[in-house]
Amino acid sequence: MQVYADNAATTKMSKKAIDAMIPYLEGVYANPSSLHTPGQEAAEALMDARERVAKCFGCEAREIYFTSGGSEADNQGILSVAKKGERLGKKHIISTAFEHHAVLHTLKKLEKQGFEITLLDVGEKGLVTPEQVKEAIRPETCLVTVMYANNEIGTIQPISGIGKVCREAGVIFHTDAVQAAGHLKIDVNEQNIDMLSISAHKFHGPKGVGALYVKKGIVVHNLIEGGAQERGKRGGTENIAGICSMATALEDAIENMDKNNEKILKMRNRLMDGLSKIPHSIINGDKEMRLSSNVNMCFEGIEGESLLLMLDMEGICASSGSACTSGSLDPSHVLLSIGRPHEIAHGSLRLSLCEYNTEEEIDYMLEKIPYVVGYLRNMSPVWRDLEEGKRNHVI
Ligand SMILES: *Cc1c(COP(=O)(O)O)cnc(C)c1O
Repeated sequence: MQVYADNAATTKMSKKAIDAMIPYLEGVYANPSSLHTPGQEAAEALMDARERVAKCFGCEAREIYFTSGGSEADNQGILSVAKKGERLGKKHIISTAFEHHAVLHTLKKLEKQGFEITLLDVGEKGLVTPEQVKEAIRPETCLVTVMYANNEIGTIQPISGIGKVCREAGVIFHTDAVQAAGHLKIDVNEQNIDMLSISAHKFHGPKGVGALYVKKGIVVHNLIEGGAQERGKRGGTENIAGICSMATALEDAIENMDKNNEKILKMRNRLMDGLSKIPHSIINGDKEMRLSSNVNMCFEGIEGESLLLMLDMEGICASSGSACTSGSLDPSHVLLSIGRPHEIAHGSLRLSLCEYNTEEEIDYMLEKIPYVVGYLRNMSPVWRDLEEGKRNHVI
């Protein structure tokens, strides 16, 4: 059996999303900047997609900027506000310790340019509070950037409350909503969001396309110089097929959100409850305030990498943290941020589901994962020391 349980890394494209691309690859392939009829047809499709995406978040079409994905949207959003902050002598930014690297590394770059960055503690539950944000805001704060839902442990942040605090203080609020878009309800006005990043491939759309919402009145700066595309804010011929497909995937995800979440939650809870029975294991992140799709656990005495390789041999596609951290031997910064010690953080497993998963696949994982954990522990010198009492169990 092959089980794909790595939907936080990327999702399979839906049939609808694939179908939505085809006309712009085959027939309407003209450049939307061209004045001829096919070009104008492409321009109309682009305009239509922008309106459809805007509608999904309750904003205006002119507040949507298409990008090459979530990373670019995060970079552009944060750097745009930083530019303004620099000009006004406001060089303080607030974020959290467990943001995606697209945010954290952008903030690191700004730190080198003289910005002061406050990374809020997310505590063992993996949640920040509006009060924490409020306390951290200073007169020189130009930006607060807090992710909507965490990509590793799935915890959902109180975005409306954080947005309200920012609005009251006159500070711009950006949220990396890449894990939330299409999975949680978003209304940028109701939730006091000034800027928001999304990525199509996290909701069954294509890779390499995303969007940045920017509330009107906030000045956007270019990352990519070039033509007048995206109202002069991002040079480069538009990825029409990708953009139209993203709009369709997003509408579809939102239309079926409640139904999908209900199905996914039922499977996820059964999976999480079953795996929790494995001794000396712990669930990472708050159990309630989390995406319905996410399970993240640590198992004492084993290496996450070995676990993934063995699960892969059993046909289970999982992850130890984010796709971006695997490949490096450093433990996940997210697990460290919620206070997991290094040796525990190394033994992590993330399973992320979607509506295409089945109850049979959950049964299969509930059979294989405890077996593989037990197998690896039997071979582990660390586990032997724990069992013989030469080391103390941490979990
Ligand atoms: C996947 C992801 C990104 C990056 O999006 P890309 O489109 O792959 O660049 C950013 N933030 C979060 C929370 C993500 O999950």
